[in-house]
Amino acid sequence: MPMAPFLSRFYDLAISEMRTLIIRNHPNLPDGTYGFLELYCDEPGCDCRRVTINVIEASNPMTVLTTISYGWEPEEFYGRWMRDVDRAKEAKGPSLDPINPQSRYSATFLTLFREQLNDEAYIARLKRHYTLFRAASQQVTTTRPATSAIRTAKRKDRRKRSR
Ligand SMILES: [Zn+2]
Repeated sequence: MPMAPFLSRFYDLAISEMRTLIIRNHPNLPDGTYGFLELYCDEPGCDCRRVTINVIEASNPMTVLTTISYGWEPEEFYGRWMRDVDRAKEAKGPSLDPINPQSRYSATFLTLFREQLNDEAYIARLKRHYTLFRAASQQVTTTRPATSAIRTAKRKDRRKRSR
């Protein structure tokens, strides 16, 4: 499942509704303004119901400090299509992404992200963003199917030949 930044399609919304934490005098983290950037699946027809969070700091937004995966559905939902108990547990998350960037701050950010999940409104927002992004992903692929473009091209070609 290819994950793409929410802001690639909904820039203003993504920025205004991004969860940010202003950290001062934390025992494990440098002072800073940290953003939980959301990425959603871009694969047409997929229904994975997850978000990937890239933790970035405002003064250095190109550096991903932590990558978190989180699925809001019950574990059984992920088990149904993954057919693997361990992977389903991981999909439900939140957990640190084993493939994508991490840093020595990752464990702390995972704890902070878990705390955000006590806020029902934040979870509802993530679901809403997922739904928006998924709808946009479907549109791109269904506006002009390749087959109809080919059919039109063939028709034009036939007309040319019959002249
Ligand atoms: Zn997906």
